[in-house]
Amino acid sequence: MNDVVIAIDIGGTSLKCAVVDVATGGIRQSERHPTGADRGSQHVSDTIVEVAASLADKARSDGFRPVAAGLVSPGVIDETDGVIVWSANIDFRNVPLRDLVARRIHVPVVLAHDVRAGALAEARLGAGRGAERVWFVAIGTGIAGAYVRDGATDSGAHGAAGEIGHVVVRPDGRLCGCRQRGCVETLASASNIARRYAERTGEQASAADIVMRIADDAAAAAVWAEAVDALADGLRIGITLYDPDVIVLGGGLAEAREALLGPVGAAVRDRLTFQTMPTLVRAELGDGAGCLGAAQLAIDLAATT
Ligand SMILES: [Zn+2]
Repeated sequence: MNDVVIAIDIGGTSLKCAVVDVATGGIRQSERHPTGADRGSQHVSDTIVEVAASLADKARSDGFRPVAAGLVSPGVIDETDGVIVWSANIDFRNVPLRDLVARRIHVPVVLAHDVRAGALAEARLGAGRGAERVWFVAIGTGIAGAYVRDGATDSGAHGAAGEIGHVVVRPDGRLCGCRQRGCVETLASASNIARRYAERTGEQASAADIVMRIADDAAAAAVWAEAVDALADGLRIGITLYDPDVIVLGGGLAEAREALLGPVGAAVRDRLTFQTMPTLVRAELGDGAGCLGAAQLAIDLAATT
């Protein structure tokens, strides 16, 4: 009987789920369910438990043996106790999701931060495979990061390691949601690129649209240049501290491909003196990275229990 793990990536709009073969890492089955965040956190956590149970039941009836489950979520996650301490988009407050799922499906469960899981997947299976030290930076509504060494992430003593989005690069800059001023995120996240463009022009446009306009729109070019500079300043600090082999840029903004990698790579290279320029690549696993990472964490858990 083949061993499998259950993986669920809890997003603000959808639950990305998979049943993954332990021996091969291959996906046996994948499905998506609406999160229904507007129904309240109790309803969402009930849905997650039921989705996990149905995946486990289906796997068993298909002749597989579920041996562990991996859940990943954005927000503040207490990975030791398996609790979602706080998550903005689903309004979770101290939800002990790991144990709720474990009690229902009777296998060991791991709960982790989605970016950490995405980093793990990119390092093991995606753009960072084969490299010893991979730094994953996800640029979306916010900016987050995680460092992976020899195929394992290190989330720090208090679960907050790698928060590159909140490295201060403009000390007299704009107030950030984290209460510091001039964080990388205030200039370079997709939402702040859009906000800054709207402040200059009065026009609403997505960060992706703004990137498309930089050749013939001075405001777009200026906002983008500031974002690239802030990101490069943040990356320089990370490179100095981590000395990674590879930096994997992921998140929605990485869809800009060369428009992001080209200028950011050049700006980082300009800033380095004694440091070695790492390889700068775009994430390969797209929005499936979190779910694949959840499966990897579950496979690791199954190996130790
Ligand atoms: Zn901040």
